[in-house]
Amino acid sequence: MSLHYGQKLLSIPGPSVIPDRVLNAMHRNNPNIYEGELVDIVSGIIPDLKHLAKTDSDVAIYISNGHGAWEAALTNVLSKGDKVLVLGTGLFAQRWGKLGKSLGLVIDLLDFGKQSSVDPAQITEHLLADKNHQIKAILMVQTDTASSVRNDVDAVGRVIKSMAHPALFMVDCIASLGTEKFLMDDWNVDIMVAASQKGLMLPAGISFVYINNRAKAARERKESVSSYWDWKPRLEASRFSELFCGTAPTHHLFGLREALNIILHEEGLEAVWARHQVFARCVWAAVEAWGSSGRMYLNIEDPEKRSCAVTAISTASGDAGYLRKWTEDVAGVTLGVGLGMASPNSPEYENFFRIGHMGHVNVPMVMGTLGAIDAGLKANNIDHGPNGLAAASAVIAHG
Ligand SMILES: *Cc1c(COP(=O)(O)O)cnc(C)c1O
Repeated sequence: MSLHYGQKLLSIPGPSVIPDRVLNAMHRNNPNIYEGELVDIVSGIIPDLKHLAKTDSDVAIYISNGHGAWEAALTNVLSKGDKVLVLGTGLFAQRWGKLGKSLGLVIDLLDFGKQSSVDPAQITEHLLADKNHQIKAILMVQTDTASSVRNDVDAVGRVIKSMAHPALFMVDCIASLGTEKFLMDDWNVDIMVAASQKGLMLPAGISFVYINNRAKAARERKESVSSYWDWKPRLEASRFSELFCGTAPTHHLFGLREALNIILHEEGLEAVWARHQVFARCVWAAVEAWGSSGRMYLNIEDPEKRSCAVTAISTASGDAGYLRKWTEDVAGVTLGVGLGMASPNSPEYENFFRIGHMGHVNVPMVMGTLGAIDAGLKANNIDHGPNGLAAASAVIAHG
């Protein structure tokens, strides 16, 4: 017997579940790309994207996944040999730095480990030591999707600003935009990158680079940028096709319009953030109850430093692997693999899993995922504490 017939559930930290309304908005033939609906909706999408990041900055849209946005951000303002400070808290800032290295940038990694957030005091010290202002940019993720840490963007932005260090502050919100409070202008962020397939509830394939005036000035100091990644023609476009350096990502734009309608014009951005907090606390409560006996714990101990979009969990040897296989094969729930904690070829790889709770999630989805995990723990004889589901349900009931 199998119990997985019915709607399968993807509970991984991106790509996330796409709402039917977004799918339906995309289900059509190719549109007129010179005029009409497609051209009209883009003029409304840009201000909505700004609203999403609470900014007056400009935003360029690329046809790419998050890696493309990473490259666009670096290549518009940095040159071969420039030094970049990477703030490591798991995996993703390091990966961004690695991409920078392939562009000829010199990477200076300040690593805070896989279980804690960045420490503004250490950043202050590091920048103080940089007397000649060799550091041209500082790269950080708001949510590291591997460790599930959330970094304090505001605190780091204040450090850089208060020291009047000229480095550009670049923040990756790929997993956090539309799930977590983010105030680009108030928090002194110069460049922010995001992508479509996580909090924005779309397929992968378009990405966003937000650019403030300091970043624009840095672009002006560069002699040339490859014409595809150059954000200038996109920001200064007088024709629709210039916005995308060629054919527009037609279907993604229709989907994005619908997703932004849901996030900004129906639920409301602050309510979206609040909903993510409730579901994150619901997941944490369940894991803490399961971990009260046996060996299972949240990778990030301090609740203040945990992401609202994803939770990374550590288990006893191999248990995460058995659990993921069981929920997938028997229960129809796909859990995220552990990322960045152990090599995919090592046995330790199966000691970690992640639960994605970003975007289009509600009570039955989150409780369904937790219910499948609870059953999987029992079915696999994995030692665990009682009342995980009751603890999650209490969070939903009482906030
Ligand atoms: C998913 C993710 C990325 C990578 O995005 P791709 O679309 O896979 O290139 C980068 N940073 C963070 C924080 C992410 O969560």
